[in-house]
Amino acid sequence: MQVLKFGGTSVGSPEAIQNVISIVSEKIKKNKVITVVSAFGGTTDLLLQCGQLAASGDEAYKELIQKITSRHLDAVKQLIPVQQQSSYLSAVKKSCNEVEDLCNGIFLLEETTARTKDKLVSYGELISSQIITAAFQAAGIATTWWDSRKLIRTNAQYGNAIVDFKTTEAQLKTAAEAVSGNHIVMPGFIASSAEGVTTTLGRGGSDYTAAIAAACLDAESLEIWTDVSGMMTADPRWVPNARVIPTISYQEAMELSHFGAKVIYPPTIQPVMNKQIPIWIKNTFAAADTGTLIQQEGYRNGSPVRGISSISKLALLSLEGSGMVGVPGFSRRLFEALSAHQINVILITQGSSEHSICVGVDEAAAELAKEAVDAAFAPEISLQKVDPLEIEKGLSIVALVGEQMKSHPGISGKLFGALGRNGVNVRAIAQGSSERNISAVIATSDVKKAINLLHEEFFETSLKQVNLFISGVGNVGSRLLQQLQQQQQYLLHHNRLQLRVVGLANSKKIAFSEEAIDLSNWKEFLDNGKEASIHEFVDGILERNLRNTVFVDITASQEVAGVYSRLLEKSCAVVACNKIACSSPYVYYRELKEKARVNNTGFLFETNVGAGLPVIGTLNDLVRSGDKIKRIEAVLSGTLNYVFNHYDGSRPFAEVVRQAQHEGYTEPDPRLDLSGTDVMRKIMILAREAGEQLEMDAITNHRFLPASCMEGSVEDFYASMLKEEDHFRDIYEEANRNGNKLKFVAAFHNGKAEVGLQQISPGHDLYHLYGKDNIVLFYTERYPEQPMVIKGAGAGADVTASGVFADILRATLT
Ligand code: ADP
Ligand code: ASP
Ligand code: MG
Repeated sequence: MQVLKFGGTSVGSPEAIQNVISIVSEKIKKNKVITVVSAFGGTTDLLLQCGQLAASGDEAYKELIQKITSRHLDAVKQLIPVQQQSSYLSAVKKSCNEVEDLCNGIFLLEETTARTKDKLVSYGELISSQIITAAFQAAGIATTWWDSRKLIRTNAQYGNAIVDFKTTEAQLKTAAEAVSGNHIVMPGFIASSAEGVTTTLGRGGSDYTAAIAAACLDAESLEIWTDVSGMMTADPRWVPNARVIPTISYQEAMELSHFGAKVIYPPTIQPVMNKQIPIWIKNTFAAADTGTLIQQEGYRNGSPVRGISSISKLALLSLEGSGMVGVPGFSRRLFEALSAHQINVILITQGSSEHSICVGVDEAAAELAKEAVDAAFAPEISLQKVDPLEIEKGLSIVALVGEQMKSHPGISGKLFGALGRNGVNVRAIAQGSSERNISAVIATSDVKKAINLLHEEFFETSLKQVNLFISGVGNVGSRLLQQLQQQQQYLLHHNRLQLRVVGLANSKKIAFSEEAIDLSNWKEFLDNGKEASIHEFVDGILERNLRNTVFVDITASQEVAGVYSRLLEKSCAVVACNKIACSSPYVYYRELKEKARVNNTGFLFETNVGAGLPVIGTLNDLVRSGDKIKRIEAVLSGTLNYVFNHYDGSRPFAEVVRQAQHEGYTEPDPRLDLSGTDVMRKIMILAREAGEQLEMDAITNHRFLPASCMEGSVEDFYASMLKEEDHFRDIYEEANRNGNKLKFVAAFHNGKAEVGLQQISPGHDLYHLYGKDNIVLFYTERYPEQPMVIKGAGAGADVTASGVFADILRATLT
């Protein structure tokens, strides 16, 4: 014999019931079958709602009952031939009238009891099982209907009754002996007490009914037919990439369901496990899918973590106090106080100091728990040996489950590392001594992110999703978006990295998307965004709370540079092309670096110096590997290089500068480049990264730009440069006479930095530098005479965008 159970969705529509009939009809060709059915999906909730409305004096329950009635009448009409319908239609009406009578009673009394509620919800399964029995008969399959209330005996703990297995087994066996056909349908979930009063087995309890029948009648197998193709590595509603677990042990399945994998009701496994009956989880809507086999031995290959689940609405209760140390019996008293009020303890942790004990319970029971525990410890509380119980709500548990975890060290490290890198704060941890489960208590608002993260960490070694929010879509920004679009497939296939741009901002608008923004259409997408400030953009980023978040700043805005702190605090990585933050006062720069470190995230700004050239990354590598920077010499302004490489006195200096600006090699205000300010910022950033606490005003700037050029607007600047043409020509000609070239050089040595225009002779490292190239020479302990040289294009939208891109990848891989 086999027991098959079909859940709410599986019997939720006449079409679904037809699937059930065809699945069962195949089975009964070979075997005797008991089909256990749930109420039509959603009915149990509706019935409970009717009871609540009636108890609160709201007559709206009548409308709901109408809804329930017509849904069931429709099912009869669609499943049963017209000639046979009438008796079933009147049976449904009769049952629904009883529901109404019950609700009327509740309405009059203005209260409902657990006993009445059980009676009320029992109609869901009663009616569904009767309609389904009739549908089987109409399909030509002889079927007997069993009344589970007469077969499954429980105590009188309404809502969650405890099964009396001895009586139940005897009753089921007698019924089975008496039955002649080979197909039985019975309602799940419902049972009755010794007094014959209807009870229920807890929400989701139809699974349990099936397991009880399977165990008591020694079935060959139990099949739980539902709306997913098996027990999955995580709840597919939360983790789109979850996949079916082919085989899992009873213990693991029990653990996963206990920690929230709703696909199977936790008590279900025990009775069948005791008899070593295999359980299959199968999909009613994809019957050919293999499903999951739950049996004694799990599957030994693959990830040591079998699945990840979560329980929400958890409250953490902490009992603390100096009086607890070394005194036996404290825990016992705590648990007794809780169990006396039927409060189920979901998780326990106790610090090794024995100073505190922490238990997780259902949030709804928290206040009751506090009353009970404070009363139990009243003497100690009054003596201040123990503090009154503390409650923290809004929490959830995420749990990793897997039999093989015990033989794989480092799993908790990976768990906490992944959570830590993403700013998920762990409030408590518990690891069963079986090491079959590691649970972390976190804020409910972090659960979705955490489960997806952990799923990626343990099951998708191959795929990592990164969520990008980009501020600034000008020259460099638009090139970056283009490069991202171009590389998306490559990164997916070669690095298993899924880079998604999910937010864009410019100085006027912000726009978010739940899915990756189509990068061929980003302009329109942003145009349709809302007018808002960068602060609202950051609010949106933090609200979304996505895993592996990277914020990219490709603006030159002070205001944008001011938001990094908020992001880093929440473990969102920041990639800045904008130099303002790193060249602001040292304390702010330091604070940001520190925030990134403490929150385990990245703060990267490679493009602050030398555009896409790997200058800062190389410097960091040298310093981290123990080298000491002795001296830096560099030409760091692509703009100035371009200008002095193109200026030979044959056309005005101002014109060459304008050309540089036109070609996109200058800051929006070219004076920042020409005055040397931009180079000062860059050498300061390098000095800081080399470990020096340097400020802008400590840098010497040998300016070549006459003071008159610094006044007024950008246009005034061009006009005054024209006036000063002789000055520029003199500088050029003098260098030319000496056979030298002009370079604007930045140097850092002995804790001091300076910048200025220099004549460079042909033998010098800095001499052969063309176009907009930059060069950086690092003289270090390990490179004392021949410096490490980094040279190449130091400006331009494409190379800068690719530097930002590289930082994004680096932030992602940390
Ligand atoms: P039924 O009505 O058939 O009893 P349930 O809704 O009780 O179905 O359980 C099936 C649902 O359980 C799935 O639709 C899925 O969303 C959820 N679920 C949660 N965790 C898991 C998991 N680890 N594997 C599969 N399904 C899960
Ligand atoms: N109908 C009940 C519920 O919704 C039992 C079940 O479907 O398993 O909880
Ligand atoms: Mg269920």
